[in-house]
Amino acid sequence: MNNQDSKSTKRSTDHDNSSREFIQNSALVGSGLMMAGGASSMFAAGSKYGPEVHTQNVPSRGYAAFDTSGVLKPWKFERRPVGDNDVLIDVKFASICHSDIHQLKGHWGSQQYPQVPGHEIVGIVAAVGKNVTKFKVGDRAGVGCMVDGCKNGTCCEEHGEQYCPDTVFTYGYPQESSPTGISQGGYSSNIVVNDHFAVHIPENISFEEAAPLLCAGVTTYSPLLKFDLKKGDKVGVAGIGGLGHLAVKLAVSKGAEVTAFTTTADKVDGIKGFGVKNVVVVDDELKALGDYRGQLDYMINTFPVDYDVAAYAAAVKPFGTYTQVGMPEGFSVSANALGLAASRVNFNASLIGDMKETQEVVNYCADNKVLPEIQVISAEQINQAWEDVVAKKARYRYVIDAATF
Ligand SMILES: [Zn+2]
Ligand SMILES: [Zn+2]
Repeated sequence: MNNQDSKSTKRSTDHDNSSREFIQNSALVGSGLMMAGGASSMFAAGSKYGPEVHTQNVPSRGYAAFDTSGVLKPWKFERRPVGDNDVLIDVKFASICHSDIHQLKGHWGSQQYPQVPGHEIVGIVAAVGKNVTKFKVGDRAGVGCMVDGCKNGTCCEEHGEQYCPDTVFTYGYPQESSPTGISQGGYSSNIVVNDHFAVHIPENISFEEAAPLLCAGVTTYSPLLKFDLKKGDKVGVAGIGGLGHLAVKLAVSKGAEVTAFTTTADKVDGIKGFGVKNVVVVDDELKALGDYRGQLDYMINTFPVDYDVAAYAAAVKPFGTYTQVGMPEGFSVSANALGLAASRVNFNASLIGDMKETQEVVNYCADNKVLPEIQVISAEQINQAWEDVVAKKARYRYVIDAATF
């Protein structure tokens, strides 16, 4: 924060004031050819894009919500021209995160519409700006929850881009460079982002399976990494949905002894297949968690709804660690203070992960075959899929085929 001046001179976009004001004024932080090497070859021969993508807005089509009903409909809109530090990515798949639903329905504060959600995005680089060396046209690329920010700031290096006041989140965030005034997400045919906020998708993972790693994967990987998970550690994962099932698989792959807590009885058999030691169906929180009193080294909770933290914290050893990653309506969770005091856990909440961790989790999952369970759907099935996510029917991530936008 002491390098504000140098940052603003280095930045390629001019959104810093608006985004800083926005973050100060709002609780909403919960929320994306041709060969490089010569200015004359910044677009590909035969590409559907010509050199005009660098000077004119780029046409895009996607699915947007138009009000707090959250009903999504096809929408044509424009992206900003591909700037010197930008990449244009033709989206191949975008997956559905519970956050998309919360934000577009206004659960996290009022929104500007039309708004295109989606922050688990994969595709192929279709154009690059002249300063971009990280990507070339034809590369496989992914975008998660952030699309721009002070990539040169030391604050980002120290703490992660997601905790920087200059960061632009992938959709619904004030962004002067966007023709619509806000960032527009990945339920769309293409996206333009600052190259720092795109990661490489290696060849040894499919696009469909890589998409959920960009939010759900890194959101669970980051706190597990920071806990310094060791082989044999006893780890609890509460809420086995899109985030939770990846938390389970990641913890199992690191050699942890995992206990899964779910409120959905018919998920038990599926969860056992992920290599957990125990699956606990929670109908009475105090009883179910009381049976595990003081046993776990670490608990990660993905509930996207309000609940009593203390009930779940009871399962963690004194001075163990408890991380909240699910984000409820209004961002609030409850805690019985006496219950929390009696279990004496170190409680924290964690917001996604930084760009380094995002690349790391994609590589780790590809190399170790830690893959999300997915169902590929077409764009016209999104509204039904959102209902199924809320009804806890997803198994476990819906991935939209971007060819159907
Ligand atoms: Zn998400
Ligand atoms: Zn920063």
